[in-house]
Amino acid sequence: MSAVDRRDPADLTSLLDHEERAVADSVRKFCADAVDPYVADWFERGEIPGVRDLARELGSLGVLGMHLEGYGCAGMSAVQYGLACLELEASDSGIRSLVSVQGSLAMYAIHRWGSEEHRQEWLPRMAAGEAIGCFGLTEPDAGSDPASMRTRACRDGDDWVLDGRKMWITNGSVADVAVVWAQTDDGVRGFVVPTDTAGFSAPLIKHKMSLRASVTSELVLDGVRLPGAAAFPEVRGLKGPLSCLNEARYGIVWGAMGAARSALQTAQTYAGERTQFGRPIAGFQLTQQKLADMYLEYAKGFLLALHLGRLKDAGELRSEQVSLGKLNNVREAIEICRTARTILGANGISLEFPVIRHANNLESVLTYEGTVEMHTLVVGQALTGIAAFR
Ligand code: FAD
Repeated sequence: MSAVDRRDPADLTSLLDHEERAVADSVRKFCADAVDPYVADWFERGEIPGVRDLARELGSLGVLGMHLEGYGCAGMSAVQYGLACLELEASDSGIRSLVSVQGSLAMYAIHRWGSEEHRQEWLPRMAAGEAIGCFGLTEPDAGSDPASMRTRACRDGDDWVLDGRKMWITNGSVADVAVVWAQTDDGVRGFVVPTDTAGFSAPLIKHKMSLRASVTSELVLDGVRLPGAAAFPEVRGLKGPLSCLNEARYGIVWGAMGAARSALQTAQTYAGERTQFGRPIAGFQLTQQKLADMYLEYAKGFLLALHLGRLKDAGELRSEQVSLGKLNNVREAIEICRTARTILGANGISLEFPVIRHANNLESVLTYEGTVEMHTLVVGQALTGIAAFR
């Protein structure tokens, strides 16, 4: 029997087939070359210089809308998509967010709810990273309760005219197309908004202490006039946006484990090299307990993500199960990062190591795509049959 793999004592990789491992390996290699050497600097500066080039490189890698079929998308499995999210987020949650918002929110919305013209016009360019998308649901006064949104779309002849504001929109300032959800006389509807339309602007949100290697913006819609065909034809109500969020949340279930793995491995290496009281700190029982608990939660989170991925590939994944995965894996990932930070001592707060960056990033991940509290209520409802949202 071969020696235990210190990075993966449970041999989680043995649960993956050849193609799944190949996807993970190729995304990991891409990140090692194109992201890891630069991302701490992007985080520190609060910007990704060359974000458009990065989007094109991600397009060439094949990860933009990789779980969608046709229109230049790779048509890969849910597990393969999840593994890509894990590897991307092992580099930085901001880079995974770029890919999630592009593929699972903007592209998925157009793929699932758009007209054939919308799909033809946008999806091939978005899959290639030639066009960047964003997804505008949240507003200054409507976060967890999107039904209270105020952005409104009114008919003017055959046209639509949109007025309102969206807040905290990933990719907003660099997007070529925005999927915007708005109230109409017929309920909430989705609109495909080219960002060069008059009346549309997307000022950058600054002063973030989390997800700094990610573009976050406000969307201002000031009399944005669109042709009648800009609206998604069929879908009405929150079913539209919630279906997209479910897709993106699924990627987060995996992605959070990437940040956790990176923090855990950093702590393992550090503990083996750092000597105090004449021996590596990895030799102290308290450090070993931390490492053991971190690995246990990582392994459990990975197994949960894989279980949900297998259900999704079988067409049987329920939204409550996605909530369960997002709630557990983000909560445990942030705990793993915080524990890793203590093992690194003072170095734990430095951007020389990825740990504090991951921990800070995960504060956003804990809140976006449904807060930890909202997912707790979803799981609570699944367990009791009683809704406690209002
Ligand atoms: P609120 O809804 O005001 O919640 C505040 C607190 O109250 C939370 O703890 C919440 O859980 C709690 N709370 C609310 N209602 C209840 C209740 N019924 N029971 C118990 N507790 C409750 N949005 C987009 O549309 N597109 C994006 O691309 C996007 N990207 C984002 C990127 C970043 C970096 C961040 C931070 C956010 C992003 N968001 C995006 C917005 C995100 O989805 C919202 O922040 C999230 O839905 C929470 O809304 P809120 O911030 O308004 O908080």
